[in-house]
Order: sequence, then C-alpha cells, then structure tokens
Amino acid sequence: MTTLDEKLEPILSEVLRRNAGETEFHQAVREVLESLGRVIAKHPDYAEAALIERVCEPERQIIFRVPWVDDKGQVQINRGFRVQFNSALGPYKGGIRFHPSVNLGIVKFLGFEQIFKNALTGLPIGGGKGGSDFNPRGRSDGEIMRFCQSFMTELQRHVGEYTDVPAGDIGVGGREIGYMFGQYKRLTNRYEAGVLTGKGLAYGGSRARKEATGYGAVFFVDRMLATRGRGVEKMRTVVSGSGNVAIYAIEKIHALGGKVVACSDSGGYVLDEAGIDLDLLKDIKEVRRGRVAEYAERRAGRVRYVDSGSIWDVPCQIAMPSATQNELTGRDAKRLVEAGVIAVGEGANMPSTPEAIRVFQDAGVLFAPGKAANAGGVATSALEMQQNASRDSWSFEQTEERLAEIMRSIHDTCAATAEEYGTPADYVLGANIAGFVRVAEAMRALGVI
Ligand code: NAP
Repeated sequence: MTTLDEKLEPILSEVLRRNAGETEFHQAVREVLESLGRVIAKHPDYAEAALIERVCEPERQIIFRVPWVDDKGQVQINRGFRVQFNSALGPYKGGIRFHPSVNLGIVKFLGFEQIFKNALTGLPIGGGKGGSDFNPRGRSDGEIMRFCQSFMTELQRHVGEYTDVPAGDIGVGGREIGYMFGQYKRLTNRYEAGVLTGKGLAYGGSRARKEATGYGAVFFVDRMLATRGRGVEKMRTVVSGSGNVAIYAIEKIHALGGKVVACSDSGGYVLDEAGIDLDLLKDIKEVRRGRVAEYAERRAGRVRYVDSGSIWDVPCQIAMPSATQNELTGRDAKRLVEAGVIAVGEGANMPSTPEAIRVFQDAGVLFAPGKAANAGGVATSALEMQQNASRDSWSFEQTEERLAEIMRSIHDTCAATAEEYGTPADYVLGANIAGFVRVAEAMRALGVI
C-alpha cells in the first residue's frame, strides 16, 4: 500500500477544501493520488501545467430539477445530476444511477473513476457520470416512464453522440434507457442512436452489452488467477448484489466451471450450497423485479436466507463485490482472508473500503480494482457506439471476443505497469498509473483547456 507523496499533499488538500463533505469523491481522489507519487518521481513533467490539479476538477457539473407526476396525481420533485469530468480522450461517457443515496459527491466519485477506467480500455471515450436521487423501488412502469422522460427533457441539452453518451448504472437498465432514448428522439427529432448505450437490440443496442460488465470482471479475475497458475474453475465464489453486474458475473463463473454459492440485495443474502440457480434468480430479478428473499422462499428448505449480517461472512476463494460503494469493510476483508480468499474482483465501483484493500494487499490476495475489473461494460458501450456510427450490428460471439480481448489487454497493461513501477501484482497502482498516463498525454497535447 502506498502513501501520499509530499508534492501531492497540497493538491489533495485543495480537493478536500473545494469539495467539502463529498467523502466518496475524496476517497476516490486520494486513492489515485497515492498511486501517482511514483509517476512524478520518474516523470516530473506529469506534474507540470497543473495536469494533476486539472484532472481532479470536472470540466462541467450540471444539477437540475426533475418534476414528475406519480400515479396518485401528486407532483414529485427529484434532483438530477450530470458531471462531465474529462473529455481529453473522447466524448464524456459513463452511466446514470437512480438511487435515493445519489448526491453530487457520489456522482463526482463515479465520474472521476470513469476517466481512468475509460482510458484503460484504450478506446476513445472521456469520463462522466450522472444520476438522480429518484428511488425506482416500488414505482409502477408508468411512473418510471414519466420520471425518465422528465429527466431527459433537461439532460437532452447537454448530451449527444459527439458530446456526452450516458448509459445505465444502479437502477437504470434497458427499460429506463428505452424511455430516455424515446424522449430524446422526440425532443430533438433525430434518430441519434449513438447518444445513449445499453439500448435494446430492437433499436440500436449491442449484443453482449447487458452481459459485458459481469463477464468482463470474470475474464479479468480468471487472467489474474492465471498469473498464479490457477483459474476460476472449481472455485467457490461469492458475488454480492443481484443486479445487472452480479447476474452476469455469476453466469460467466458457472460457464467457466466455478460455483457461486451466495448473492444478495439490500434486504439480505442467500446462501445456496448447491450453487445459485441462475434461471430462478433471473426470473425473480429481471422478469418480476422481485427480492432475493423470494429466492429462498422458492427453494424452501434447501437454502439459507440471512437478512442481517454481511455476505462476506460466507467463506469463499473468490469474492466479487458487485453491489455498491464501500460495501466491503476492513472487518469483512479480515474475515475473508482468514477463510482463505485467493482473489477479489470488484464488479462494483469502489466497493472495498481503503482499509479492506490494505488488508487484501498485505495478505497477498490478488485484488482487482473496479476501474480495471468492471471496465468491460463501458468498453462494450464504446463498441455499441462503433456499431451505431457504422450502422452495423455484430454477432454475440464477435462482441464477446472483442470484450475478452479488451479485458486481457487491460489486465496485462495493469500488471506490466505495476511491474514497471516496482510493485508487481499491485493492480490498484497499475490501473491508476496506466489510466492517468493515457489521459495526461492527451490533456498535454490539447493545451491548457
Ligand atoms: P443494479 O442492476 O441496479 O443492481 C444493483 C444491485 O446492488 C442490486 O442487487 C441492489 O439491491 C444492490 N445494491 C445497490 N445499492 C445497495 C446498497 N446501498 N446496499 C446494498 N445493496 C445495494 O446495478 P448494477 O448495474 O448491477 O451496478 C452494480 C455496481 O456495478 C455499481 O457499483 C455500478 O456503479 C457498477 N457498475 C455497473 C456497470 C454496468 O454496466 N451496469 C458498469 C460498471 C460498474 P437492491 O435492489 O436491494 O437495491
């Protein structure tokens, strides 16, 4: 674990001062700056022209009112956000999150992470993120549609295929993207497929986009394990969450011969020693938009449902936190290490606290940070943009092969960078440095803007 270089201390202090109270954003910036000490020691020019200060300051932050009418005829007000963080490498690119916890600091942490993640893909995409404090849980389909339409009524002024291309995130899947795309098309009178990614196959979506983040994270973990002569096969695995990322991580682990024994939602976790029944989980989560507790009811007696405590109490060899930020604490990490965890792959963004990362790294556990391990989703979004631009549609196999190739490349870049900077197998440092260097080179070339 690295500490902050004294030359970078004033930069972090300034970020903390200028963005008071935004704790998740502070955490994300601190982690990246802790990695950059080694870069400026080797290449002092990366500290010139305020490159590091600039990368920590969003290019544009938009906050807006989202009024909508619920099924009872009552007017509801939510707050919408879009943080356009960095466009040195391409149009801003990053998801939209609908969750009651969303605030500016959370959107900024996600946007900041997105800059480096997108850089790691090697594709021409800048970093941004958006969302709203809207809670979709329990809302009818009509309410979701009216909310999405109102959200896009303002957002449409700020996005476009060459400007900013949002996608999904927590609470935003194919249904919400469809409603937002419909409203964008209606307001602009343009069939601009490349303005959003994660679209349905019927109207310009990419095959394998839905699967991409989860599959990609497993490809990364498998390759990371290969450096120790192992693989996902036969590994007892725990995946937190049961949303888009978690479901497709489970699918790929099972396809590669591993066994996922537990998954969760914010209500609790289910432990199924026979291996999670994915058809049942998909039916509950994707078709009926239900809860993990129902999984236990439908497999009565054969599984255990725990509505208090942590999913990380379940012993496993691979842990894939795929729900939300800071869900895996230092205490959880200690328990996992004691239980013999070999590899951790972050499907979610920043799910492990800094203390947890330290515990894993000190114990020699292979640790894949989200900005590298979950980059398969945004990479496949960039492939969707390519298909839209060329009015083409690739097969599932072709898209999955590109995804696998991109994940191999991200893994190898992170590993080689960690090695080059004297910290072999430190994927946190490798991802932060490799991502930063690519963005910094582009920013330098574009001048002070
Ligand atoms: P999703 O489909 O909405 O699923 C989120 C899952 O996490 C649900 O099971 C949800 O349970 C659980 N969860 C959310 N907030 C929680 C909380 N505060 N406490 C406990 N559980 C919580 O979202 P997703 O797309 O899978 O995203 C999951 C993570 O992956 C996020 O960190 C996201 O930023 C990251 N990510 C997503 C993509 C992508 O392509 N979708 C790409 C890269 C990274 P409830 O239903 O009970 O809330």
